Amino acid sequence: ITPTQGKETSRLPGMTTTTDVPASGVSLSERLRQDLAGLRESGLLISPRVLDAPQRARTRVDGREVVNLASNNYLGFADHPRLKERAAQYLQQWGVGAGAVRTIAGTLRIHEDFERQLADFKHTGSALVLHSGFSTNQGVLGGLLREGDLVVSDELNHASIIDGLRLTKATKKIYKHADPADLDRVLRENPSEGLKLVVTDGVFSMDGDVAPLDKLVEVARRYGAVTYVDDAHGSGVMGEAGRGTVHHFGFEYADDVIQVGTLSKAWGGVGGYAAGHPDLRELLINRARPYLFSTAQPPAVVGALAAALDEVQRDPSLMERLWDNTRFFKAELGRLGFDTLGSVTPITPVVFGEASAAFEASRRLFDLGIFAVGLGFPTVPRDLARIRNIVTAEHTRDDLEQALSAYQQVGRDLGVIA
Ligand code: PMP
Repeated sequence: ITPTQGKETSRLPGMTTTTDVPASGVSLSERLRQDLAGLRESGLLISPRVLDAPQRARTRVDGREVVNLASNNYLGFADHPRLKERAAQYLQQWGVGAGAVRTIAGTLRIHEDFERQLADFKHTGSALVLHSGFSTNQGVLGGLLREGDLVVSDELNHASIIDGLRLTKATKKIYKHADPADLDRVLRENPSEGLKLVVTDGVFSMDGDVAPLDKLVEVARRYGAVTYVDDAHGSGVMGEAGRGTVHHFGFEYADDVIQVGTLSKAWGGVGGYAAGHPDLRELLINRARPYLFSTAQPPAVVGALAAALDEVQRDPSLMERLWDNTRFFKAELGRLGFDTLGSVTPITPVVFGEASAAFEASRRLFDLGIFAVGLGFPTVPRDLARIRNIVTAEHTRDDLEQALSAYQQVGRDLGVIA
């Protein structure tokens, strides 16, 4: 490649680069500089902390031993011995990679078996596994919906749903957060001859509240609409053995309910799934673009996930500990005077008001050995900046008590509690 513009400068032996001054338009350096400066000035520049040990309830972050309240590792599966054992076994037996896209290179038996296992676990007619929860929303919403369809989405749905909906030509409408009456209004005002889809998170990731699925499904059915539940934070958390929010509300056998979710949070690995109607899987194999154009998960991940589903059913104490810890931590935070926004799940927001206060609290907690991230606008409303804590089955009472005493100190120092 011959550089055509700019001055050639040597950076590394054998490597040349150009100063990118274009004849017109914006140079890449200028774009990067401006955008990063903008993010820095608005306090939105993200720079993740670095872990020097696995994702566990206690781990080492930026060189410091901490109680970890930042991960979605609800069941402690991210570094679980039985999952690692099965991952190693699948790795030895099936190799490192899946080879190619499943429709091209053929699909490994372990992918098929895991999907059957997942459908049985979810009590659904079929299940398909994709690469992540994010790409699942792209694949299913993009693959299922077409022009003339109507999709009605909760205003607080996850970014991957919003992006997935951008891929469809369906008519898109929003209903007020977790509000069946408003859903009813939107469906009434927007008659459609196509497929109608009501889309909601099962558990909302910022407030830790649960969608009122019993009422939402009832409204959807009145209009002949299908309900689509993204259970990223409900799968492995809600319902018996973590079967999910749909199971919690008793809709798991219904063909007019589609469950999607992630295998990257409670289930410890990475991936996403869509489960529901017996024919859903076959359609998605033919229509979901991430399935059609991206290589499948590596065998070791499939092994870990298969072991995770076994483990949660073999060891009921996992769910018990998750919920005991959740109740204890929330009750104690409430007793200290913190606002946890009425969250009823392991996602436990602690409100600090302004974003600067939440970020400062997060820094101070870290100094006291507690790792939990601050979230501010635009991720959450301006005056409800918070620290989001995720309680897991792996936390001990000692871990949570250490966190509570740090919260008490920081909350008092910042004037958030008396
Ligand atoms: N949906 C929801 C509701 C989520 O919270 C997340 C995780 N941030 C995702 C989808 C994406 O899942 P994954 O991390 O597996 O891509």
